[in-house]
Amino acid sequence: MSIWYTEKQTEDFGITMKVNRTLHTEQTEFQKLDMVETEEWGNMLLLDDMVMTSKKDEFVYHEMVAHIPLFTHPNPENVLVVGGGDGGVIREVLKHSSVKKATLVDIDGKVIEYSKKFLPEIAGKLEDPRVEVKIDDGFMHIANSENEYDVILVDSTEPVGPAVNLFTKGFYAGISKALKEDGIFVAQTDNPWFKADLITEVQRDVKEIFPITKLYLANIPTYPSGLWTFTIGSKKYDPLEVSDERFYEIETKYYTKELHKAAFVLPKFVQDLIK
Ligand code: SAM
Repeated sequence: MSIWYTEKQTEDFGITMKVNRTLHTEQTEFQKLDMVETEEWGNMLLLDDMVMTSKKDEFVYHEMVAHIPLFTHPNPENVLVVGGGDGGVIREVLKHSSVKKATLVDIDGKVIEYSKKFLPEIAGKLEDPRVEVKIDDGFMHIANSENEYDVILVDSTEPVGPAVNLFTKGFYAGISKALKEDGIFVAQTDNPWFKADLITEVQRDVKEIFPITKLYLANIPTYPSGLWTFTIGSKKYDPLEVSDERFYEIETKYYTKELHKAAFVLPKFVQDLIK
């Protein structure tokens, strides 16, 4: 028998969906993990009762994390994904033929295990020979890396539990050190309706470290408010100055070369958060 599940976004508001059945549930060493089958969105991963990804709308987030920086960097060869255990960002990274190596560092091996089992369309490229999977704390991995990566993509949970350190200025400074001299990073930075302060703080911190810092948006219906932000920090290349010749054909459902630049056009109330 199906039930209605609500992810509370504030004390007074939530997003509700019909769940046909629970496929797996467990308390891992780091977080509560639920894999459910929903009527509208297909199989869905929840961590600590928050929607992480769903079969129907996952392409938006995964494409927008990966393709903006990978088309901005002229030759991304060595890419790191912090978090991202469902494998969706890695799948998108591998669409770029310049990429020789993609490393995924997720703290929780259970996310990878159950994504492979119940979300194979998302996790299916984790076995690719160009991919190395490490079960480790992304903060520590970054702290121990120097001048190594062309692009770093932070696909973390919200700043609670194991991901708290991934939203600190020390982490962004570590990312700068882990990147090569012309490196770029992107982090998911939540939504401007309920997490305005977080966006303001992250932009302020990243701006103090990276000469080029910008915010861009995507529409993700299963995430709180549906309007999602990404913060990009770049040492050299500006995502708004990518020339037309730089774009090549890859298969996408959300990202386009026009959207590459349009995603940076912000509504006034979002502009005000990052002034
Ligand atoms: N796209 C989702 C969102 O925006 O809500 C998040 C996807 S989920 C796959 C994020 C991943 O970050 C989880 O698998 C979690 O285990 C991982 N994670 C959380 N804290 C981490 C840390 N300190 N180091 C590495 N991975 C971490």
